[in-house]
Amino acid sequence: MTAQTNQRIDGKRLWDSLMDMARFGATAKGGVRRLTLTDIDRQGRDHFKANCEAAGLTVRVDAIGNMFARRPGRDPSRLPVLLGSHLDSQPSGGKFDGALGVIAGLEVMRSLNDLGLTTEAPVELVNWTDEEGSRFGHSLMGSGVWAGIYAEDKAYALTDLDGTTVGQALEAIGYKGPEPARPFPADAYFELHIEQGPILEREARQIGIVTGAQAQVWYDVVCTGQVSHAGTTPPSARKDALVAAARIIELVDRLMRTRGEDGRGTVGQLTVLPNSRNVIPGEVRFSVEFRHPNPAEVDILATQFTTRAEAQALASHVGIEITELFRIPAQPFDPSCVDLVRQAAARCGFSAREIVSGAGHDAVYVARHVPTAMIFTPCKDGLSHNEAESIEPGEAEAGCQVLFEAVLARANRPL
Ligand SMILES: [Zn+2]
Repeated sequence: MTAQTNQRIDGKRLWDSLMDMARFGATAKGGVRRLTLTDIDRQGRDHFKANCEAAGLTVRVDAIGNMFARRPGRDPSRLPVLLGSHLDSQPSGGKFDGALGVIAGLEVMRSLNDLGLTTEAPVELVNWTDEEGSRFGHSLMGSGVWAGIYAEDKAYALTDLDGTTVGQALEAIGYKGPEPARPFPADAYFELHIEQGPILEREARQIGIVTGAQAQVWYDVVCTGQVSHAGTTPPSARKDALVAAARIIELVDRLMRTRGEDGRGTVGQLTVLPNSRNVIPGEVRFSVEFRHPNPAEVDILATQFTTRAEAQALASHVGIEITELFRIPAQPFDPSCVDLVRQAAARCGFSAREIVSGAGHDAVYVARHVPTAMIFTPCKDGLSHNEAESIEPGEAEAGCQVLFEAVLARANRPL
């Protein structure tokens, strides 16, 4: 690492703090199971809060459990610069997904303290509640409620598999805070996150300058054929819903590949009824999603998919019902914030490239209200949502240094 800056974060302290946080919900295979709003999550939050307070930050909690740790600026009239990510994990998740952005934010605060720096604007570190969605089924819940995407009451009423609601879980761990969960004016938001994909590692880049998040369209599809005996039904009489579904799944993959290396098309969920080995499937339900950085490409995929899937079903003698669940436009990040990330990476001498986020992040919802940018760092084999998720200390340090520089530049920018 050949940093050209003399204001350096402490890479060792950052790494030690990441390992410290990874103790909460540590799994035997080296990963983390820190499901949102569980007692393990509470322990991690308490630990984080204590560290924030030890660093002189003032911690507030809002009604959906989002945590905000504020460091005052010299000019109290200036809007805060936000930074952060999430501390919850997938059921068999890794140590760095989310935690990197929060703990690096803590390291930014500690470094500001060590360097005796008072920023012009306040700086505020955020831990968003339930980014993963694996317990209550709604990903980006905390940032989504904050941003007004999800109604607070609906979020409170969501249940986990045991029937516990979000509202009950928040109260049980003592993190249903007094602050309203809605956007407050802020000058910017920066989120450092592992890439969760293979591009940076493949190209040996230290920093991804994230320019935005890609457009998506999601569907539920039901193919309806006719249940009949596997042994007695000749080819001419078969209405096999699974054969039709298989052809449509192949269509999804084929359409994706016509859109180049930036296209995404996935069927990740399939239910076969009656799911008996000697019965021709009468009904198959499956999910379909397409993504692309360019929303026009998603529109093309959506049109091609629905017309061709319907034609395929007809040719396969089955009925089809396609329900579009939602279409999310691409979310470009704020050019001036993205530029601060670009400049920071260049100043530090890190190899960097622009990249579009393939995954959803809290930053995508925050960006609807606050000028936003993200920083990606590589992860081993592009692996995430996996206990084997792994990054190098130097990669964490580089990402944190860029975060520090971008936040400092924004918080001190001339108005
Ligand atoms: Zn994450």
